[in-house]
Amino acid sequence: MRKKIVAGNWKMNNDYQEGMTLFSEVVHMVKAEVNSSTEVIVACPYIHLHSFGQMANGRIRLAAQNCHQAEKGAYTGEISVKMIESVGADFVIIGHSERRQYFNETNELLAQKVAIAIKQGLTPIFCIGETQQERESNRHFEVIREQLREGLFHLVKAEFQQVIIAYEPVWAIGTGLTASPGQAQEMHAFIRGEIAGVYNQEVADATSILYGGSCNPKNAPELFAQPDIDGGLIGGASLKARDFTDIAKVFNDRG
Ligand code: PEP
Repeated sequence: MRKKIVAGNWKMNNDYQEGMTLFSEVVHMVKAEVNSSTEVIVACPYIHLHSFGQMANGRIRLAAQNCHQAEKGAYTGEISVKMIESVGADFVIIGHSERRQYFNETNELLAQKVAIAIKQGLTPIFCIGETQQERESNRHFEVIREQLREGLFHLVKAEFQQVIIAYEPVWAIGTGLTASPGQAQEMHAFIRGEIAGVYNQEVADATSILYGGSCNPKNAPELFAQPDIDGGLIGGASLKARDFTDIAKVFNDRG
């Protein structure tokens, strides 16, 4: 059975005190309401990682939203994988479309980030997704295949088995537009097929593939009911403890 995962991506929101308040609400609600078989992850800004690590009590696991591709050195303003690990995070989001778009992160650079994260023991949550224009011109499968091949498929099998994938159509992020359950399932099945082709079916069947893009408590049940959707990467709705918990609860009665 693949792991069911609900991960919140706070992006650049909440100052220190606001973040503390939101996180303590999330810890409280998740502990009381979400089955322990669902992995709940919060990807917060770096400034929160250490304090949240003390508050999470092992129930919620933490992710950074980015890392640098070098081990250490003269990269003013950057944060390394080792630094992230040293404050108790287990995961790192790599290749979010906002980083691809606003920070010009290429598949080649992302491949380096993935490699160092795995080498040093952080689990990458690797994001892929097509733009609206790419979907409208029927290039979405080709784009996803290229992102997988160039960003992830350099990994050997044992390394690849550490990765979580998030399919996030760019046109659905923060827009209120959601991929239909059918569109999302179709792409998740395609991604799993690509993994099976490069590694094998067993590896593909064990890979958690999350959906991201305007996920909310209303649409999550139908999305998460799709056979190849193993949970969600949640942006806007992760900033409200009630909504995030309600999304994380979707797997409660699904065994
Ligand atoms: C995201 O940025 O990863 C995301 C899915 O955002 P939203 O849920 O706000 O669309």
